Amino acid sequence: MGYWTDAMLGMAVGDALGLPAQFMDREDLRAEPIMEMEPDSTFGVPAGSWSDDTSMALAILDSLRIRGCVDLDDIMQRFMSWVWEGAYTPFGQSFDEGQTCIRAIMEYARRPDPHTCGRTGEHANGNGSLMRTMPLCLWEAERVLRVREEPAAGSGQEAAGQETDPAADEKRPAGPAARQEQDGGPAAEPACEAALAQAIEEIHTVSALTHNHLRAQTACGLYFFCVKAVLEAKARMAEARVQITKTGAPFFEDGEIPADGAKNASTGLLEALQRGLDEGFAWYETHDGAELSHYDRLRDLAAFAQTPETEIRSSGYVVDTLEAALWSIARNRTYEGCVLRAVNLGDDADTVGAVAGGLAGLWYGCGRGDGRGGGNVQDGKGRTTGSGSGCRKAPDGSGIPEEWLEALQKREWIEAFCEEMEKRDARRGK
Ligand SMILES: [Mg+2]
Repeated sequence: MGYWTDAMLGMAVGDALGLPAQFMDREDLRAEPIMEMEPDSTFGVPAGSWSDDTSMALAILDSLRIRGCVDLDDIMQRFMSWVWEGAYTPFGQSFDEGQTCIRAIMEYARRPDPHTCGRTGEHANGNGSLMRTMPLCLWEAERVLRVREEPAAGSGQEAAGQETDPAADEKRPAGPAARQEQDGGPAAEPACEAALAQAIEEIHTVSALTHNHLRAQTACGLYFFCVKAVLEAKARMAEARVQITKTGAPFFEDGEIPADGAKNASTGLLEALQRGLDEGFAWYETHDGAELSHYDRLRDLAAFAQTPETEIRSSGYVVDTLEAALWSIARNRTYEGCVLRAVNLGDDADTVGAVAGGLAGLWYGCGRGDGRGGGNVQDGKGRTTGSGSGCRKAPDGSGIPEEWLEALQKREWIEAFCEEMEKRDARRGK
């Protein structure tokens, strides 16, 4: 429980932390790195302000929450509310909008067809669909995992994880998954494969609302496989009552590179991500791998983590963003280390921070409300943080720092959305 909150707060914190570093040179950031929440002078917003990345993700989350399914027109309507009415923003006004997204939203306003409003061609490979895909990844991963857990439990819709909301049913494609559910057949593999195919199709379709190119869609798909793998790893750990600790998590940079780095990484986040990437690469290779070669550096994450920083770009190009985010995660073993690393790469810092922060938040969590925390903890730099009054930190301080959460604009509002999604998952039999 709590993974919506962990992921969305992790994302929003990464976005807000990175916003003042957006467009900055890496050299300048090296001289004066971002270490805490700062106001952003470009947009004139106070510390803790998250931008378009989190706004668009919240719009998708809200659509899933209200509609109970992937409703493309509803998502576009919410994107329009974001742009023109300031919905899903910290202060009632949108800012930092990406060109490709704005263009698609304007096109949709002119001619409301969600299948054609997105930009196509090479130029549609910015990171604007990747940055907002986390809620959809959680939604789809939860559904796929539920199908896998209960593949043959009766013939009802519940067993296969289908929505009971009639509106949701209406929107679901009547594909192999639906037939499987109606038959109630015991064949687990086809049911899982169909659920996975539906997940990727929906993730691609939501990317295409603005970024209608297979390369950008593949980034969203690979991110989905990472999210799913992290959820699976966390579920296994919960079952075995194993807590996330620094020793169980990768990797080097918060401390130093351990001689047994690779061995260390055999458990924990890096292993989960590698598992997700392996599954993602395998899936695309057998389905739609035309753009997969652009992501070749991610095939071996432990090796990729050793790539020098000079070979990591943090631009708005979707391949750069996914690489920079995973590189930052793989080189660190706390949420804080990961996100600071991501945003101090500069350039499209808020989006790299959001993409990295979502996954890191999902893994390390906030350490919230489970009685594990309390007491002063050491952060990734060996500094002592925390007042010892709360129980909102992971036991070793690897979770999202409380001071960043406290600084986050509209934190409670984001939490309320997430808690509703978590209650919904619970009702669906998680
Ligand atoms: Mg932004």
